Amino acid sequence: MSRAVKPPGWLGAGAPAGAVDGASVEFEVTDHGARFVSDAAAARRLVKRLTPDGGTPLTLTGSLCPACHAAGDFDAMGLPMVVYELAGEIRCRKRCPDHGARTDVIWRDAALYHRARRWDERARHPAVPDRETGGPDGEGCCDTACCGSSVATGIGNITVTNRCDRSCHYCFFYAESGEPLHEPSKAEVRAMAETLAADGGIGAIQLTGGEPTVREDIVDLVAIASESADQVLLNSHGGRFAHEPDLAHRLSEAGARGLYTSFDGVDPETNYKSYWEFPHALSACRDAGMCAMLVPTVVGGWNDDQLGDVVRFGAANADTVCGVNFQPVSFVGRLSAEMRADQRVTISDVIDRVEAQTDGAVPREAWLPLPVYYTVSEFLRQWTGEGLYGVTSSYTSWMMTMVFRDGDDLVPVTDVVDVAGLLDAIRDTIDDYGWAPSGLDKVRAGKRLIGDLDGLLGPHAREHGLDVRRLVREAIDGEFAASVGDLYDDVLPLGVRHFQDPYNYDLARLADCDVHYAMPDGEVVPFSLYNVVPELYRDRVKRAHSITVEEWLERDYADLESAADERRTRRGDGVIDAAGEGEGVFGADLTYDRAVDAETRTTVDRAYAAAIEDLDPVWSVL
Ligand code: SF4
Repeated sequence: MSRAVKPPGWLGAGAPAGAVDGASVEFEVTDHGARFVSDAAAARRLVKRLTPDGGTPLTLTGSLCPACHAAGDFDAMGLPMVVYELAGEIRCRKRCPDHGARTDVIWRDAALYHRARRWDERARHPAVPDRETGGPDGEGCCDTACCGSSVATGIGNITVTNRCDRSCHYCFFYAESGEPLHEPSKAEVRAMAETLAADGGIGAIQLTGGEPTVREDIVDLVAIASESADQVLLNSHGGRFAHEPDLAHRLSEAGARGLYTSFDGVDPETNYKSYWEFPHALSACRDAGMCAMLVPTVVGGWNDDQLGDVVRFGAANADTVCGVNFQPVSFVGRLSAEMRADQRVTISDVIDRVEAQTDGAVPREAWLPLPVYYTVSEFLRQWTGEGLYGVTSSYTSWMMTMVFRDGDDLVPVTDVVDVAGLLDAIRDTIDDYGWAPSGLDKVRAGKRLIGDLDGLLGPHAREHGLDVRRLVREAIDGEFAASVGDLYDDVLPLGVRHFQDPYNYDLARLADCDVHYAMPDGEVVPFSLYNVVPELYRDRVKRAHSITVEEWLERDYADLESAADERRTRRGDGVIDAAGEGEGVFGADLTYDRAVDAETRTTVDRAYAAAIEDLDPVWSVL
């Protein structure tokens, strides 16, 4: 697999990774933390200096200085960082010789953090196979001296454009006037997809941007990507589907599984990107057989009071909405550092708010870190040949759960099954019988699982007569949880995924990240390198592979007529209004299309209200 370029001096001088025996100190020393110390005594001294009075150190790791990073001083930005517990919170602290100490909060609820930590599944992560030996000791997605990742790509992103027809305030990627136009050719997209799939295949490729659907050849790109991946998703706001439902059909036929779509709230102020279009876009997805994953970027004081309504909206439309994945905002790009204190939202904040705003339908004890679900998926695959779709991450990065819909009610998953108990039972079975027992061992393991499951059913499932033996039989037959489907109208998976930023950057988390970007120069890098250190990755590649308007017009999908159409250009003071004569070709300006008439507004408002208040799908109103 291709390798990223290691930033010179990224980690500073120090002992090679692994020089400190973590067992000899009372806190964990990650490989990256070990680079800053020579032995256990030096680690203790460093942690003592960094941990404030009263704090309990948990981890010594590697990070970066946000000020050096912002100043472009990449040689000096590598720093040790201590993760510690204080006043019921998990915090991090580091000290730059030039810019002083910085503290940030990682999880506001230490108890939830420790619960997630108990499920650390790193030992079970899939490693990238070595190309020469076929063994699980390959170099990972990038230079091991950089992030140390040896995790195979779970979700591979390919940026197909930096054009966009919106201008969200927190965006870090759309092309503004005069900025380079980055639009890989079809051949480059094919090469990137093949690179992602090179090491044993890839589950999902996401075509991202910018807004991928502003590319006029997006259907061709989906077809190309789907030759390399089981699933192709579009990171799109879906607005174009509302006006061109036929596009959803064409994309679906080309192999698109669905949208991974920004959905920041349930009113036009918070979801100004697609509020008016989304119910129609969702209906178009449904008609075309595509799904939609809702992805709210959660910003403190802005939309964190709408999380419960987003869950209800998703549950109401769960035959097409395949999940909600909350993403606490990362402070990169266009969000100033001064807003950090007010707007910082942690994973445990989201979990608490979702519980409160759904009246307990998604309780905090229902959430578990994503890596355990990977274990379940792998267990099912080994036993039955049919796994769930699995991605993985650090236990501190991504929490998952689900909620059931029964008529007009949301049913907590903990009322269906004791999730933690079930996963413990599966892990114990793997530990005692291995991943794929056969013969008598398989019979014994199956019997034990049935016995365990029987005691783990929740009150709702018990009351409604869920049959445990049938459930296990279905799993073995590859009909996972069909009997659960008989009892409930729908199930909605929920996630909270916190991408890193320069303030909380933890290289140990990065090493477990399997959300990667392929770049046109052949490298594959983790999401949090590509976007958090853009100068060395995203922007470097964007510059190196940018094209001029004239070159863009030579593309077989671009034409003068389209480019000259004033709706195809981002307009504003001094920005072009005619192709080839201005500063660049940007997204379609859909302001024209977004002039929603009063009747449409009323219908769309009613569709949201029906979903949130009565759990009725939007197509019952449209
Ligand atoms: S729609 Fe997406 S790419 Fe476009 S400006 Fe908003 S966040 Fe950025």
